[in-house]
Amino acid sequence: MSPTAANRPALSVVAPCYNEQDVLPEFLRRLSSVLDGIGGTSEIVLVDDGSRDGTWDAMTGAAAADPRIVAVRLMRNHGHQLALTAGLSLCRGERILIIDADLQDPPELLPEMMALMDGADGQGAADVVYGQRRQRDGESLFKRASAAAFYRLIGRITDIEIPTDAGDFRLITRRVLDLLTAMPERHRFIRGMVAWIGGRQVPLVYDRQARAAGESKYPLAKMVRFAVDAITAFSVVPLMASMTIGWVMAAIGFAFFVYSIVGWLFGHTLPGWTSLMAAVGLLGGMQFLMLGIIGAYLGRLYDQSKGRPLFMIRDIVGGPR
Ligand code: UDP
Ligand code: MG
Repeated sequence: MSPTAANRPALSVVAPCYNEQDVLPEFLRRLSSVLDGIGGTSEIVLVDDGSRDGTWDAMTGAAAADPRIVAVRLMRNHGHQLALTAGLSLCRGERILIIDADLQDPPELLPEMMALMDGADGQGAADVVYGQRRQRDGESLFKRASAAAFYRLIGRITDIEIPTDAGDFRLITRRVLDLLTAMPERHRFIRGMVAWIGGRQVPLVYDRQARAAGESKYPLAKMVRFAVDAITAFSVVPLMASMTIGWVMAAIGFAFFVYSIVGWLFGHTLPGWTSLMAAVGLLGGMQFLMLGIIGAYLGRLYDQSKGRPLFMIRDIVGGPR
């Protein structure tokens, strides 16, 4: 049942949770007091992304105690971006706050975000108010440096302006949400997709806190995959780069060809084993590299063409459904 505008809550809060049993109670306590302060109707959509700890029990317990809370459990771990997508497609609010459950993004910023969305900066209503990190407490130098490098890189090779140092922590309007959920792509880089939608998007600078409890669910391998998803989803520059390399290699190969023919014509055909091996090695290497790049895109095309559902819901508890 899709709700009509009349019975939408004014605000939905969507938080993906993966093994967050230790932070969930504190998260809900702080979030609830913020929502109480704001007033108006609201719902909290918690998505359990296949947790292996007591997260689901904590969620259903909370949903039983507070009618605002909707607990959603996915069939298995789908990853942060798809868990978020599940929550976003189920939430019913006029405005939607996307927030991590680990309290790295303080829920207390919500009133300020709401005010900015109403046009508190004197420049009219905003479609998106995104949190921009000034400082990142409790995150390793490596994480901060790699994040900075990544946002600079993606800024250079894409046409859209993806804000630097911004995560998914943001307040968006229903209109933006509807556009976002209409995009069927599997490899979702949600902060980039929101930036791509456009409209008026204003930053709210904040200091990112350390995790309240538990540990990061983004180990290096997942971070790299996330970065590759982001780049391939928003840029064909790597594909173009392979073409540039291909031209250069073709030119070198042609020069070698001319050189060998001329050498043969003048009768001094040298053993030439070294140059042959160098050419074979170099060309072979470049070909593999290019095949890899093409494969990355092809793999994504393949994935997309399968058209599988982006997520599979196991249960929904609570809420007027
Ligand atoms: N998360 C998730 N599924 C995953 C990994 C993470 O739903 O497979 C959630 C996690 O519970 C948290 C948010 O996504 O609410 C951000 O993850 P995390 O805090 O581990 O990332 P970091 O802040 O370290 O980048
Ligand atoms: Mg975190």
